Amino acid sequence: MSRFWSKVVHGLTPYTPGEQPKLANLIKLNTNECPYPPSEKVLQAISQAVNGALRLYPDPDSAALRQAIADYYGIGRDHVFAGNGSDEILAFAFQALLNHEGPLVYPDITYSFYPVYCQLNGIRAKHLALEDDFSLDLSKVPADAGAVIFPNPNAPTGRTVSLESISTLCQRLPERVIVVDEAYVDFGAETAVPLVKDYPNLLVVQTFSKSRALAGLRVGFAIGQPELLAGLERVKNSFNSYPVDRLASAGAIAAMEDRAGFEHDRQRIIASRTWMTEQLSALGFNVVPSAANFVFARHPEENAEALAQALRERAIIVRHFRLPRIDQHLRITIGTREECEALIQALKEILA
Ligand SMILES: *Cc1c(COP(=O)(O)O)cnc(C)c1O
Repeated sequence: MSRFWSKVVHGLTPYTPGEQPKLANLIKLNTNECPYPPSEKVLQAISQAVNGALRLYPDPDSAALRQAIADYYGIGRDHVFAGNGSDEILAFAFQALLNHEGPLVYPDITYSFYPVYCQLNGIRAKHLALEDDFSLDLSKVPADAGAVIFPNPNAPTGRTVSLESISTLCQRLPERVIVVDEAYVDFGAETAVPLVKDYPNLLVVQTFSKSRALAGLRVGFAIGQPELLAGLERVKNSFNSYPVDRLASAGAIAAMEDRAGFEHDRQRIIASRTWMTEQLSALGFNVVPSAANFVFARHPEENAEALAQALRERAIIVRHFRLPRIDQHLRITIGTREECEALIQALKEILA
């Protein structure tokens, strides 16, 4: 606490990012980064952007990057917004589109940044309880919702909702903004991007941090009809007009264009997820069916926090949340196959 802080800052409980320890030889399965490096094409594009033009501000509209994203999805560039990581775009969306009279509805178990943004913006939240199997039933979104946000697949559960249920929700609440946070969509859920043309109230948010191996570059994007994007634009231009720097833009464009590299890594991660799920199940874990680059699992006889600690002593870090309903679960990022094997070997030793 400090007397120099504003009242708002005194009242905040900030998000705790997964740790980024500096130890060598650590197996880091706690923040859902991609285990494989960006492709050579991406690294070259960034290197080539290291030149004298860095003295100039980047394009405030990120036109070339938005065009690359638009080309990937076969939509118009006017339907794409780009930002400094999807967290920034979510922050803009909370201010621009989700702050209304009625409460903002999101799952009781979900990305823990949502409550933080609510607090920062003075938005009233209403939790939608997940079912016992952690599935999300969108037909239970209350009619008094001021707006709705959820990840698909959800985090940290990895469970998906169908496009049909998203479409039904958009129709049922046509005057309410629905944000689908698709940070993990490339690992097994269906993207809601094709629904955007039908629903002016739908905003889809994605990131380069997970499936495109660029968490260090900080690039995210949103897809929606121009009317919604104009709301984001107004907040952006009241905050930081140049959110995507020149190097980030060059790297992200190359990543969008490198479809073969993307597809290769994505398939390797999905295959390792299948392997991890089988191995964890064989060790007695209950594993939630995951469509993401992590699994969410609990062991019926072992304390989750103690397991996380025992793994840490073996230089493997996973994520444990001290939160209601999930404090006996571990969220484990899918690493390289070798990292997954090391995790399973460590668990075998711990459980023996
Ligand atoms: C990782 C993550 C993000 C944020 O991604 P950045 O683009 O790196 O800011 C957003 N939503 C969810 C659900 C995530 O897990």
